[in-house]
Amino acid sequence: MRFAGRTQYLQPEGAYQVLSKAQALEAAGNEIIHLEIGQPDFDTFANISLAGIRAITAGKTRYTPPNGIKPLREAIAEDAGKRRCLEIHPDQVVISPGAKPNLFFPTLALIEPGDEVLYPDPGFPTYEAMIRIAGGIPVAVPLVEQNNFSFDLDTFHQLVNDRTRLIILNSPSNPTGGVIPLIDLIEIAATAQRHNCWIISDEIYARTAYDQAIVPSIASLPGMMERTIIVDGFSKTYAMTGWRLGYGIMPKELAKVVELLLTHSIGCTAQFVQEAGIEALTGPQDQAEAVVADYQLRRDTIVEGLNAIPGISCQKPQGAFYVFPNIKSFGISSNEMSEIILEQAGVAVLPGSAFGQHGEGYLRLVYSNSIENIQRAIVLIREVVKNL
Ligand code: PLP
Repeated sequence: MRFAGRTQYLQPEGAYQVLSKAQALEAAGNEIIHLEIGQPDFDTFANISLAGIRAITAGKTRYTPPNGIKPLREAIAEDAGKRRCLEIHPDQVVISPGAKPNLFFPTLALIEPGDEVLYPDPGFPTYEAMIRIAGGIPVAVPLVEQNNFSFDLDTFHQLVNDRTRLIILNSPSNPTGGVIPLIDLIEIAATAQRHNCWIISDEIYARTAYDQAIVPSIASLPGMMERTIIVDGFSKTYAMTGWRLGYGIMPKELAKVVELLLTHSIGCTAQFVQEAGIEALTGPQDQAEAVVADYQLRRDTIVEGLNAIPGISCQKPQGAFYVFPNIKSFGISSNEMSEIILEQAGVAVLPGSAFGQHGEGYLRLVYSNSIENIQRAIVLIREVVKNL
């Protein structure tokens, strides 16, 4: 069959590929510890689920405006503004089913064929996919381990030029957990202004940060809101991955174009899901805060365990729920290593190369799992890699 050229670079997400291999092993009777899929391991908080159920029984099952219902846009404008010290108007908010459409549609709205787009490598695989679909030229900026997986700013400066139309940032990062420090953001912002670039700032893990780390938003820097799309959502903070609820915050003119793209593609986000989102933002926040303390304990356990395995070294990330250990000393590819760990240790992890060429030599492990499973996974991995 022949397909349009724009689809030729599309690849499946590594996490789903490893998940299906792991499930096949499970079906054959093997026990597998799942450290591959990036989602919270707890259920959506009860007050949010009940708000969704109440909305369904109250008949809130209709179409809504494509950019979302006003009370939710107002709640997002207030909450997101307060957290970033910004004045946000509800008309700047575009609600979508998950955060992904708010990565994709602003890119479609802004990128002409041939425009260059800088994005983090290793990085969330959707970035490269959406740049290519839009006809843009993806330009990978390495995240470097020695720099706590922030941008390599020297390379960034070499790559940015007057053809650069958009810069994608993700802090805290998937897959590294790295946080971009304010000092780097100031430099990136000045460069973006000099070259008249847009920024997509993917802040979906902004509330999952440890050790009192402050996760600054580039949008809060002077003059940046007018060229930034903040992307955030409910999937990670409120354990709502399957509900599909996210949003973008952007200048009103761009919000109108993104709304048109939503109108003619997804139509709108489910009404009762949006109602549940209002409860998530305006209801009690103690559970969302408590799970971060829980994750921190798991992070410390996994980092300590991995660093105690000869040949593996692992930084302690400041955010998200991923670790990105260095396995270069074994002299095999991260793909081979993840296959060995899955098949021989029964632990599903992702190769760093699933996140771009600069992820080679690393693995990504998700620690939104129980401390017992994390500890057991470490023992199993240690047993297998000692023979390599
Ligand atoms: N951005 C990053 C960095 C992610 O890791 C993810 C999900 O894994 C998303 C965006 C998409 O989030 P959603 O499930 O809300 O579409």
